[in-house]
Amino acid sequence: MYISCRHVYYLDQPQTALQNQHMHEPWTRDQLLVVFNLYCKIQFSKTKANNSLVIEVAHQIGRSAASVAMKLGNFGSFDPALHAKGVKGLSGASRADRAIWDEFNQDWERLSIESELAAERFPGSMLTTPPERHVGDSHIYGHPVKVEDILSGPSETVREVKVRLHQRFFREAVLASYGSSCCFCSNPVPQLLTAAHIVPWADREDLRANPRNGLCLCSLHHDAFDSGLWAIDDTYQIKLSSALMAYLPSKILEVSFVDFSRAQIRMPDKFWPEREFLAFHRSNLFRE
Ligand SMILES: [Zn+2]
Repeated sequence: MYISCRHVYYLDQPQTALQNQHMHEPWTRDQLLVVFNLYCKIQFSKTKANNSLVIEVAHQIGRSAASVAMKLGNFGSFDPALHAKGVKGLSGASRADRAIWDEFNQDWERLSIESELAAERFPGSMLTTPPERHVGDSHIYGHPVKVEDILSGPSETVREVKVRLHQRFFREAVLASYGSSCCFCSNPVPQLLTAAHIVPWADREDLRANPRNGLCLCSLHHDAFDSGLWAIDDTYQIKLSSALMAYLPSKILEVSFVDFSRAQIRMPDKFWPEREFLAFHRSNLFRE
């Protein structure tokens, strides 16, 4: 059995020799990938140097918590959703930060996998727990897994690993962006929350890991969305389907759906849903 080592580090702890050694070195690609992975999986309001996850990731990659928090702020400075909320982020972003941001936003399919694998290369990473889902283990392949193996490999095992990495990244990024509650009804029960694809999984492989193609929904509202019983318009308002309204009057439908009609969904703190994807859902799945 794999036993996870979890430690809590505090800011007043002395810096380790590893951290001191790396303080002034340029950031490696793996370090940037891991911090962008963290950016995706943490609410922006929690990207502070005293957040326990920030501290743990900083320790794992040999950087200070303050420098990881600064990188998270740099990524935030590129995020249009944060701009729209009046959050400016930090202004000291480097070209390397911008390059990673652009790479992710142009190719979520590849970068989600690459960043998940980078996180797994740092031992004891909390970003990829629970450990039973640690898919980069060498016993699967007999050699370290490379992103190219996963993106181009034809075997069933490789396809399965790709799906699991996409699912893990997508779910964690979407739930974090929506503060872990249903964007339709605000249900906060973790066991009932899912990351729903706006453009269905089967329709666009390139959008499977893109958090802007995601909504955090409870099981009921996820099933109803996939069945076209409601949709989201261009102003992010909830539209109910005539197919659903045909069942009225019904007390349970009134409480679960009608009370939310024309309300705006609860917007995520980053990765706003793309209007283009919402339009695809209205055209192809919504039962007007
Ligand atoms: Zn719900």
